[in-house]
Amino acid sequence: MELLDDGIVPEHAREVKHDAREFAAEHIIPNAEEHYRRGEYPWEILEAGMDAGLVAQDIPEEYGGRGFDLQQVLAIAEEFYRADAGIALTLQLASFGAEILADHGSEAQKEEYLRPVAANEQLTGLAVSEPETGSDLAGMTTAAEKDGDEWVLNGEKYWIGNGVEADWVTVYAKTGDDPDNRYGNYSLFVVPTDADGYDAEHIPEKMGFRASKQAHIEFNDCRIPEENLIGAEGAGFFMLAEFFNHGRVIVGGHGLGLAAAAIEEANDFVHDREAFGRDVADFQAVQHTLAEMRLEFEAARALTWRAASKVAASDDAGFWAALAKTKSTEVAAECAEQGMKLHGGRSVLADRRIARVYRDVRIPVIYEGANDIQRNLIYRQQPK
Ligand SMILES: Cc1cc2nc3c(=O)[nH]c(=O)nc-3n(C[C@H](O)[C@H](O)[C@H](O)COP(=O)(O)OP(=O)(O)OC[C@H]3O[C@@H](n4cnc5c(N)ncnc54)[C@H](O)[C@@H]3O)c2cc1C
Repeated sequence: MELLDDGIVPEHAREVKHDAREFAAEHIIPNAEEHYRRGEYPWEILEAGMDAGLVAQDIPEEYGGRGFDLQQVLAIAEEFYRADAGIALTLQLASFGAEILADHGSEAQKEEYLRPVAANEQLTGLAVSEPETGSDLAGMTTAAEKDGDEWVLNGEKYWIGNGVEADWVTVYAKTGDDPDNRYGNYSLFVVPTDADGYDAEHIPEKMGFRASKQAHIEFNDCRIPEENLIGAEGAGFFMLAEFFNHGRVIVGGHGLGLAAAAIEEANDFVHDREAFGRDVADFQAVQHTLAEMRLEFEAARALTWRAASKVAASDDAGFWAALAKTKSTEVAAECAEQGMKLHGGRSVLADRRIARVYRDVRIPVIYEGANDIQRNLIYRQQPK
């Protein structure tokens, strides 16, 4: 069964998609279950991904990357997530803090911080969410205050991918207090994780995505040089919103990979299992369930690839990105639910792929903006 065919993938993204599939078959699929069980950071798979030229290569060629565009990263995401979501997130997060820097950083920042990530010598992350809120970007309290030629950060971040493992993170912090311009009060900074006053520890174990690691970060008078401000002071929210348009299309790919895994697994199971003297797949109700899964999957995939073109062309990007993210992640959740049903009792065996997918699909509906927030964006940003 070929669900992630490349007919819908633009020509320039097909080669890297094939490379990603081969890599997933060799390095991710055989290790997925064990990594899930151990819940450890998959360092050796990350290194293999680096050797294969598939990690952090969205960084522009002039700074040492392969300059993968949105469609190429989406093609990789579908393949990696089909194989295992936790390992996939780790592979794709290595450059999570880098895209904003590539788009808005100074030449000196790009030379110092992007180049080592593209060379796979450093890892990065993006620190936005806080213990008290992840959704309200204008309600975050981590603050940066100017003191001479330094910025001093105080506050906490939560859920930060690579917050422990990264060499530097892009941090979203409050730099203003204008109640009439709530979204103009935030800025972005490059914060090296070895800066004094940066403390990070892993958050408690998760039920899904167990081969990826998130951190609770505390900034206690964490001092960074003034030149670590990214772009203009007060422009943080707007840079982040632009970045999320790309990120949410990629998260659409996370949903598609997970949905494909659920459909494959359900399909295999019902063709291999008998009840009442015939294959479970012979019952029309089961066929309708599988047909419904396929129907929703194809709709989500068409929408996500359409959104990728729209976002790449900056054509109502926020609207299309929110549509793709919401639809694909919810289709993944529904396909996993139905896949569990079709597995009967075996669905709850912890080492089954369908059970792993069922636990993983709870997560992309939340990150990069919970789907309720996406619905707000879809309503408000729909083209008139
Ligand atoms: C595995 C994982 C990895 C993550 N990685 C990162 C990372 O690398 N960097 C980072 O910064 N963050 C990361 N996050 C955080 C993620 O972005 C937030 O969890 C998410 O934005 C939701 O924020 P919250 O958990 O604080 O939920 P809250 O903001 O408290 O919202 C809880 C719920 O309330 C409802 N709600 C809230 N506001 C509204 C509204 N306006 N309208 C309608 N409903 C609403 C929604 O149902 C929402 O799900 C990660 C999260 C997970 C689970």
